[in-house]
Amino acid sequence: MLFPKKTKLISGVIGIILWASSLLSLGYFCIYGQEFSQSVLFIMFESNTAESSEYVAQYFKWWMMLVFIAHTFVAYMLWRRVQPIALSQKNALIFSSVILALTIAIPTFKDYVIKGKSWEDTVDKLQIRLEPAEPWQLVVGYLQYSEQLNNMQSLLAQNSKLPPIKNLKDKYEGLPSTLVLVLGESTNRQHMSLYGYNRPTTPKLDKMKDQLSVFNNVISARPYTIEALEQVLTFADQEHTDLVLKKPSLMNMMKQAGYKTYWITNQQTITKRNTMLTTFSKQMDVQHYMNNSRAQNSREYDANVFEPFQEALNDEAPRKFIIIHLLGTHMKYNYRYPPAFEQFKDNAGLSDVYDGHQVEVINTYDNAVLYNDYVISHLIETLSAKNNRSLMVYMSDHGEDVYDTPPHQMLGRNEGKPTLAMYAVPLIMWQSSAWKNGTNTNFENFVNRPYSTSHFIYTWADLAGLSFDEFDATKSLVNPAFTERPVWVGSSDNKKFFHQP
Ligand SMILES: [Zn+2]
Repeated sequence: MLFPKKTKLISGVIGIILWASSLLSLGYFCIYGQEFSQSVLFIMFESNTAESSEYVAQYFKWWMMLVFIAHTFVAYMLWRRVQPIALSQKNALIFSSVILALTIAIPTFKDYVIKGKSWEDTVDKLQIRLEPAEPWQLVVGYLQYSEQLNNMQSLLAQNSKLPPIKNLKDKYEGLPSTLVLVLGESTNRQHMSLYGYNRPTTPKLDKMKDQLSVFNNVISARPYTIEALEQVLTFADQEHTDLVLKKPSLMNMMKQAGYKTYWITNQQTITKRNTMLTTFSKQMDVQHYMNNSRAQNSREYDANVFEPFQEALNDEAPRKFIIIHLLGTHMKYNYRYPPAFEQFKDNAGLSDVYDGHQVEVINTYDNAVLYNDYVISHLIETLSAKNNRSLMVYMSDHGEDVYDTPPHQMLGRNEGKPTLAMYAVPLIMWQSSAWKNGTNTNFENFVNRPYSTSHFIYTWADLAGLSFDEFDATKSLVNPAFTERPVWVGSSDNKKFFHQP
């Protein structure tokens, strides 16, 4: 509009930039059927270039060439038809300003001035809105990637300066062992038949029940992934939330004890929210990032982790520690399971307080729990087939209220209005027969203990046979010296009791 004589040239230059940057996303979409994101950049820069070119060779199909040609041809035809817009210089200026105002100025004004958001959040929001379009997908993806990478590197640098755990002793030193910690997502144990739910949502775990220790009274401290797992995987707890970065983590502890360590995740990696988790993953020896979606609620199945898990088990290292982080039953529930697991379709087994829409949501959640049952039991079977001295613990990071609590209107989690459903997590343990040999593993008397997952690091150390100066047996779920204590939930400025001895 502003330079009508240069219309062809300007649209041509813009066109070439859009065309070139879109080729990468288009190719990625052809291969994975997914949008390009900062997580993809993370994986690309993580793996070496030889690997990337192998990828291209492996995935490139002849029909993609046709897609590229069509993509180019349509763009070229559009460009040929571009005509200068006949406007006076003054009108051209007005129209250009209106377009700029509508796309950039007004949304910025709305967020920054009217809603009073910080400048950082305002820019963030603008980036999120730009991201789906070319060439911003690459630009924003790269900016976010480098910002989070910087954060992560400073967190890692901080972690590497920590002194090791004092007087770490290993009761099982020299014995081969494979220890697996499976972290679930948004699974409320009250929706598992293993815990008495009246729909058969966990048939496979139900069947192996006598091989499992099923803990009935475990609560997560926070209803949000990062905040909950920060306390699960470090010495931080509800009384000492600042210890996340001040003391060695569970991952550091296992490495110090001589384990080869693996992190396999089906959650996103380098998003703003997940940087802490990716930092944790980087404290391990081997990482497998299986989910590159731009949004956490896109379709993705947890069977993604099977292959890297098998690979880790096949590794010859005699002592292995594997963390598997699942998407579990995260929203949107119907994106968590393939069609074969769509078993709960009507209101059978449900109370009649629910309307049609609620029944639909609960059904998708229960189907996701059913798929999660398949994933967990498959992981146990895979580990069991190895016949090693091995142990697996599965727990969810937090629960989820799926219209469970009267008056049955709450879907999801809200720390301000805590309900048991948001915090009631499954915690189960499986031990191989080789593990049980020579180890004190009868936990029958412990399964009803009230426990917060924020003290889990003590339970894990205890299970692994580790002790150290600051080890506190009274905080271990599986120790005879365990003592009941208040189970706190909520943020540090608004804590509430779930249990008080
Ligand atoms: Zn979560």
